[in-house]
Amino acid sequence: MINRYHKYLEIIDYKLKKMFEEQAPFIKCKIGCSYCCKEGEYPLSELEFVDLMLYYNELDGNIRGAINENISRLLESKRQKFYECPFLIKGVCSVYPARPIICRTFGLISIRENGLNKMPFCVDLGLNYANAADTETSTIVKCAPDGTMPVAYNIDRKFLRSHEMEATFNIFFGKDKAMVDWLKEEF
Ligand code: SF4
Repeated sequence: MINRYHKYLEIIDYKLKKMFEEQAPFIKCKIGCSYCCKEGEYPLSELEFVDLMLYYNELDGNIRGAINENISRLLESKRQKFYECPFLIKGVCSVYPARPIICRTFGLISIRENGLNKMPFCVDLGLNYANAADTETSTIVKCAPDGTMPVAYNIDRKFLRSHEMEATFNIFFGKDKAMVDWLKEEF
């Protein structure tokens, strides 16, 4: 099944790459910017977690050691609702090829199940879409100087890990948990 999941990721990544390219005038993501890895719950499914752990097990021992220290600190801390992702090492994702779906979609505007649009929170930090948004209300008010329109995409996590996707790719995501809860079981 993991090979079929990788095929699914390949297609999702291809589509996301095109979306990020389309929205380039609004996107401030760059290496070293890791706000989206510093304060979150990082929900992921069993399948995503298994894939992440397979990748982690193949990492260099020093990197695994640094991750393990982060995980120990996280699991010992009382503040486990929103936390820095333990896989963030020196400002860089140490498991980038196996990062969860939620990490792949972050930065774009997504369409929620209820039909409303969800802005990336970094708009409030003056980053993605800040050049098109009213920061008071976090709503889009204008297009980019080159005429590019902000677009909301159907990339909500619930859709990307839906039964429809499972049937299309012959995969099974399993249950969802916050990353810290998966780590509690594993470490
Ligand atoms: S898995 Fe990687 S991209 Fe996702 S929150 Fe953690 S460090 Fe960031």
